[in-house]
Amino acid sequence: MDVHKPDVMLHVEVRNKINIYSHTIPGPGGMPVGTNGKAMLLLSGGIDSPVAGYMIAKRGVKIDAVYFHAPPYTSERAKQKVIDLAKLVSKYSGPIHLHIVNFTDIQLYIYDKCPHEELTIIMRRYMMRIAERLSVESGSLALITGESIGQVASQTMQSLTATDAATTMPVFRPVIGFDKQEIVDVSEKIGTYETSVLPFEDCCTIFVAKHPVTKPNLKMIERSEEKLEEKIGELVETAISTVEKVWC
Ligand code: ATP
Ligand code: MG
Repeated sequence: MDVHKPDVMLHVEVRNKINIYSHTIPGPGGMPVGTNGKAMLLLSGGIDSPVAGYMIAKRGVKIDAVYFHAPPYTSERAKQKVIDLAKLVSKYSGPIHLHIVNFTDIQLYIYDKCPHEELTIIMRRYMMRIAERLSVESGSLALITGESIGQVASQTMQSLTATDAATTMPVFRPVIGFDKQEIVDVSEKIGTYETSVLPFEDCCTIFVAKHPVTKPNLKMIERSEEKLEEKIGELVETAISTVEKVWC
C-alpha cells in the first residue's frame, strides 16, 4: 500500500454512530447562524446586497433586514421582489425579519431642499440613520451593505466615508473588494441572481441626479443637511413608527 498517495482515503468518524466515508462534498461552510450576534442588512432589490447578507450570515451572524421603498414611485412588485430575495437568503441564514420603511416623504423633502448632485449621498446617510435606529430596537450590532469600491458614484472612498459618518455603528461591506462578476458568481451560486435582475424600479434610481458628486466633502454635505432641519426629524420618526415588518 502507498500511504503517501493512496487510491482511496477512508475517513472514520466515531460519534453516536460510526460513519465511514471516502468522498467529501463541500457545503456552504461557515459557522452556525446566531453564534456571532445579529446585524442589520440594508437589502435593496439589486444583486449585491443579498450576496452581502449571505456572506455575513455565513460567519454565524443572524440577519435582520431593512428595505426602503418609495410608493407610488416604486411599485408593490418591487417590494415583493425584495421579500422574495429575503426569503432566498433565509434559506442559508434562517428566518429574516424584514423591516419595510416608507421613504417617500423623506426623499421628496431632500429633493426639494438639497442640491440634486448630493441627493444620493444624503439619501444614503438617512438610510444609515434609520437602519441604526431599527438596529437598536432589534438588538443588531452592525449594519451590512452590498457596496463595492468604485462601482458607482455613491461608492467611491469619499462617498463611503461620508456615508459612514452618519452612523456610529460598524458597517460591514463584505463585497467591498469584489468586482461585479465576482458578486454575480456568488449570487448565481446561492440562487438570488435571477430574482435580482428582474427589472423593477429602485427608490435610489428614481431620484438620482444626472451628475452626482463622486467626491463629496463631508462639511458641505452636513451644511446641505442643515436645510432639512425644520421637518426631517418628524419625517424620520414617522418613517420609523410606520415601518412594516415581514418574516421571510
Ligand atoms: P445592490 O445591487 O445591492 O442594489 P447597487 O450596486 O445597486 O447595490 P447602490 O444602489 O449604490 O448599489 O446601493 C448600495 C447599497 O446600499 C446596497 O447594496 C444596499 O445595501 C443599500 N441600499 C441601496 N438602496 C437600498 C434600498 N432601497 N433599501 C435598502 N438598502 C438599500
Ligand atoms: Mg441597488
